[in-house]
Amino acid sequence: MARPLRARIDLDAVREHYRFAKRLAPRARALAVVKANAYGHGAIAIARALAREADGFAVACVEEALELRESGISAPILLLDGIFSPAELPLIDDARLTPVVHSWPQLEWLRQARPRHRIDCWLKMDSGMHRMGFAPTDFAPAYAALAECRQIGTIVLMSHFARADEPEHPFTARQLHCFEQVCQHLSAPRSLANSAALLSCARSHADWTRPGIMLYGVSPMLHPHPLAASLRPAMTLETALISVREVDAGEPIGYGGRFVCERPTRVGVAAVGYADGYPRHAIDGAPVAVKGQLTRLIGRVSMDLITIDLNGIANAAIGDPVELWGRQVSATALAQASGTIAYQLFTNLNRRVPVVYEGIA
Ligand SMILES: *Cc1c(COP(=O)(O)O)cnc(C)c1O
Repeated sequence: MARPLRARIDLDAVREHYRFAKRLAPRARALAVVKANAYGHGAIAIARALAREADGFAVACVEEALELRESGISAPILLLDGIFSPAELPLIDDARLTPVVHSWPQLEWLRQARPRHRIDCWLKMDSGMHRMGFAPTDFAPAYAALAECRQIGTIVLMSHFARADEPEHPFTARQLHCFEQVCQHLSAPRSLANSAALLSCARSHADWTRPGIMLYGVSPMLHPHPLAASLRPAMTLETALISVREVDAGEPIGYGGRFVCERPTRVGVAAVGYADGYPRHAIDGAPVAVKGQLTRLIGRVSMDLITIDLNGIANAAIGDPVELWGRQVSATALAQASGTIAYQLFTNLNRRVPVVYEGIA
């Protein structure tokens, strides 16, 4: 038997979630965000699964975009981080990519460019997140400077929310108000909404939405939200038990003896560890499922192995299936038990984990 660990990815689920994103904002187009290898789900496979219907894709950088172009994706591709140096301009021109412009140096590089094709741009405003984008007072001048360039095509006005996952929080409304104020005299299409704003803030939908995590079936919201209820995880990370033993009360399990058995315990060992991307900081009690039944992690996560409490699982035996995250174990719940977020569990998935695609590609 080969090592039983694998990630199964349901492409139909991703496609359904993209359609859901379009239904939520029926007058907007939607960029499928596939940066960081589609949040660890495989950018080429995800983009191909969406190729027939997606209005466009968003990635972090030119390298990620070229990978999509080389696999036959012809839809618009947005570069969320923009251009890192003017040396990237010929690549952007040849591959017809759409950079975000978030700083004056980037704007200047574009002004001096002499591309063969007009370059479409997304001009980014810092409406309060204070990470990237032009300050509100600089935004109209930046737009004017870009709009007068003959080599620049369509300009989309964009901004990004810091706290859209907390729908009751006034910060999103404040950012939206700031953006609307500054853009009121600029006649160009607009884009604000990530997954969380798509679900919870209809006023932000505008002309283009940018769903990411929801495509992969994980709720972007901090707390349960009715519109997130229909999402189902696209990725299942699963393995099997490779050892089962009885351990006496009072005995420690694994490195550092972090967990000590409170009672005689049947301990299962599953083939997955932090070198696969399983979170090393998972605490005792973190959720895991064996044969479809929820139980808990006990003991520290090793490089290639974890240890599991099998006391509540009747007849658990070597070879039984173990789900690390998916439809039985919420990636968000495991992430919470590990001091992180589902986004990071997915993007940390290691290359050595075989990926199996299901659904119509
Ligand atoms: C990653 C990203 C998104 C998607 O965010 P989700 O929370 O995954 O929906 C949208 N816009 C920008 C600018 C991003 O960087």
